[in-house]
Amino acid sequence: MELLRYKQRVLYIDIDVHHGDGVEEAFYTTDRVMTVSFHKYGEYFPGTGELRDIGVGQGKYYSVNFPLRDGIDDRSYKDIFEPVIKAVMDYYRPEAIVLQCGSDSLSGDRLGCFNLSMRGHANCVNFVKGFDLPVLVLGGGGYTMRNVSRTWAYETGLLVGQHMPTEMPYNDYYEVSPLHTPSPCFVILFQTLPANQTPAVLRTRLRT
Ligand SMILES: [Zn+2]
Repeated sequence: MELLRYKQRVLYIDIDVHHGDGVEEAFYTTDRVMTVSFHKYGEYFPGTGELRDIGVGQGKYYSVNFPLRDGIDDRSYKDIFEPVIKAVMDYYRPEAIVLQCGSDSLSGDRLGCFNLSMRGHANCVNFVKGFDLPVLVLGGGGYTMRNVSRTWAYETGLLVGQHMPTEMPYNDYYEVSPLHTPSPCFVILFQTLPANQTPAVLRTRLRT
């Protein structure tokens, strides 16, 4: 809301595994904020975010929903995220971007069901950063906590141009932190993609 005092068009991008229902609803009838949400859809909370939900009135064509099934991996996510965001940028030409970085879209999340690695997730941050607009980066969901802290630390580093080493530096809490132990969490669990989510099917959905 505060951003709208200074910017005419604000783009809101949501990569949390859940649909960005609240923000979408808040700006559903206006073209001042365009919302784009990539989320699990189908028997999943909150149950909204259909492809057909595109906004109403002044807000028509200013809400974008990309429903997905379980298990989407880095490669497929990149293949849909980048062209969609590029098209949205060309169409909307926002003056500022709000990026909701829910990390429940990571592999191994306790609630989520996607299959993104930390780097696949961070690729979204990097891609958005590449447009050189003011970006407000927010947290969001994330229920496997060690992965949440790792990913957000990594993404913060990326945003400020600091390469983060994989080893955690020694500190007062080192002994009690679960984070310094080598963890298999970022090994991508290779699941086969459901047939309705193969790269080819996703590409046809891109055209709609
Ligand atoms: Zn969520």
